[in-house]
Amino acid sequence: MKFYSTQQNSPIVGLQEAVMNGLAPDGGLYMPIHIPQLSSNFFKAARTLSFQDIAFEVGKHFFMPDIGEEMLQSIIKDAYNFEIPLVALNERLYVMELFHGPTGAFKDFAARFMARLFGFFVEKSGRKVTILVATSGDTGSAVAHGFLNINNINVVILYPSGKVSPLQEKQLTGMGGNIKALEVKGTFDDCQKLVKQAFLDMELKEKTTLASANSINIARLLPQSFYYVYLSILLNTGGRPIVVSVPSGNFGNLTAGIIAKRMGVPIDKFVASTNVNDVIPCYLQTGKFEPKPSIATISNAMDVGNPSNFVRMLELYDHDVKKMKSDVFGANFSDQEVREAISNVYEQFSYIMDPHGAVAYLGLIRYMSKNPECQGVFLETAHPAKFLDEVEKSIHEPVAIPKQLKKYLKCKKEAVLIENTFDDLENVLLSI
Ligand SMILES: *Cc1c(COP(=O)(O)O)cnc(C)c1O
Repeated sequence: MKFYSTQQNSPIVGLQEAVMNGLAPDGGLYMPIHIPQLSSNFFKAARTLSFQDIAFEVGKHFFMPDIGEEMLQSIIKDAYNFEIPLVALNERLYVMELFHGPTGAFKDFAARFMARLFGFFVEKSGRKVTILVATSGDTGSAVAHGFLNINNINVVILYPSGKVSPLQEKQLTGMGGNIKALEVKGTFDDCQKLVKQAFLDMELKEKTTLASANSINIARLLPQSFYYVYLSILLNTGGRPIVVSVPSGNFGNLTAGIIAKRMGVPIDKFVASTNVNDVIPCYLQTGKFEPKPSIATISNAMDVGNPSNFVRMLELYDHDVKKMKSDVFGANFSDQEVREAISNVYEQFSYIMDPHGAVAYLGLIRYMSKNPECQGVFLETAHPAKFLDEVEKSIHEPVAIPKQLKKYLKCKKEAVLIENTFDDLENVLLSI
């Protein structure tokens, strides 16, 4: 597959360049030059396939022959070694649990695939690469875990001191190996600023090879299409139209869903479900895209005021809000509504949602109240134990911590405390 930049002002590139560049030189995001079609034979045969088989059948259109068949198989086998249950709350309402990976968030799907693909390209190039990433919590741990023990790659994570949850901090600082955590005396924005500065620094560029693992990378986007295909195959629709509600922040997850639909996956509608950071639901209503500063909420991984994948959504709908609206319904909710939903769903179905999944649940219910003929699925993107305090307050019961997250509680915090200055960061980067 070849990839073009959404800014249309950079050369068309192959997979390796798109992955290693992250962002195109003109500042645009890479998109595949065409969307492959899955055949009706594929869908007929797919009922008997595992998730890994499906990921391969979908992934080969994007990743082969740039990487060989064996390599793609082995990346998929290695990356997706956890379950992906589709749970029925009742015969019309389903939840797909995307949080059974090692860090308890759906970001494992993208980060684990990307890390392995990156590792392959880095090895081919014979260089050593340092991945630099700023995190407010979830991204850092998924990236760190994904890149753990991958040859020729070091990962440096910057996180704001005192501003991540205790479990998140353990996840960021307890990995060891090729993962180094920097605890920055500042905010998340400060961390992000330092990372940007590092990428622009000429001296650093000469002495090290820095790469980015943030969510705009095409290798993080495309693997997220796999579970939409899987979902459509697992779901018993009874001939009803499928609607999928996606809890959204940067809109990578939803964009991957739209790409899956274009490949032929029979999803009729998406719900773009957000917290009060509602730039895209507003766009769908008014046709105006107006980024604003993000507002802190209890679904904090979705606190995004300027969603980076919006430009990709525009490309997919020819910059036409009417076209986008025919596929995507927008809905936004307050923390209070989310807390009530967690409590109600627990009472009604004995099912425990996390705040992100709860936003998606609410969006689905709103859509289905006007479109009762649908078969509905919402995506659960984080394990409720990651947001223990909030969830326990809403359901008035203790939440069990699963073993993949419990492991982290025993980890010893190992972080280098740095001042919020570029000199401190540079010293660390040059010492690796
Ligand atoms: C990152 C994240 C999201 C938002 O996903 P996008 O692809 O950025 O829209 C939702 N839920 C959780 C738990 C996340 O970590």
